[in-house]
Amino acid sequence: MGLFQISFLPSFNHLPLSFVSQRYLISQLFKGLYAVLLDPAVSYYYHLIFFNSTILIVKSVWRGKMNAASINVSLRDAVFLDRDGVINRKLPENCYVSKPSEFEILPGVAEALSILNKLGYLLVMITNQRGIARGFMTVDDLQNVHQYMFDELEKSGIFLDAVYFCPHEEIEKCSCRKPEPGMLLAASKDLEIALGNSFTVGDSPSDVDAGQRAGTRTVRIAAQKDENADLTFSSLLDFALFLERQVLKDSNSVPNTDDEERD
Ligand SMILES: [Mg+2]
Ligand SMILES: [Zn+2]
Repeated sequence: MGLFQISFLPSFNHLPLSFVSQRYLISQLFKGLYAVLLDPAVSYYYHLIFFNSTILIVKSVWRGKMNAASINVSLRDAVFLDRDGVINRKLPENCYVSKPSEFEILPGVAEALSILNKLGYLLVMITNQRGIARGFMTVDDLQNVHQYMFDELEKSGIFLDAVYFCPHEEIEKCSCRKPEPGMLLAASKDLEIALGNSFTVGDSPSDVDAGQRAGTRTVRIAAQKDENADLTFSSLLDFALFLERQVLKDSNSVPNTDDEERD
């Protein structure tokens, strides 16, 4: 109870990019009524103010800029997002986005992410980046690209909850490179995600595979229907709008009591 202060969380170390959002911190700090947290990676302070089942989060940046969000902590479902071809325009085969100028966010992505956010999903990016193993870029290059992505998305009020990447080459037989489910499983542990209620969204068969192996529902972003995926949409926005309609439909289908015990 009361005020406590933490300079960093041990769990930060598990996240390849040391990028953790406000909502991730909730699982670590749930017991307190109020917490101030410094994220050393980005020099932000997070102020978490705990209500019944809601947490008001105020993120203050060094120069006094403030962002606030309120989160329902009973929801821990996630949308696992592939990066290239879902969030940003994919480069030709064997080309890797190694600098911000090559990172072009696709139309409708900001709107899609804010819908998913509003619906209460954690947003977890899961991306294969073997350009690192191949020497086309360094981890620092990737961090720079992702910092640019965070900055761009933040302009629309969007915060990703975590980013996981696999830097390995296929032949390294790691457990993280999709279609292996390693990154999803690590995220579900780190962020306390209910995999069965979550979605994996990607533009490749390996995304669908990884999502299935982790036990999530799967969404393929493609022009043609993917028989292996639970759902296929032509864009992330179409998927987000679909989910939004589903939620609206569910909330409108409250049992009709008019039929009960009528004389
Ligand atoms: Mg992709
Ligand atoms: Zn890997």
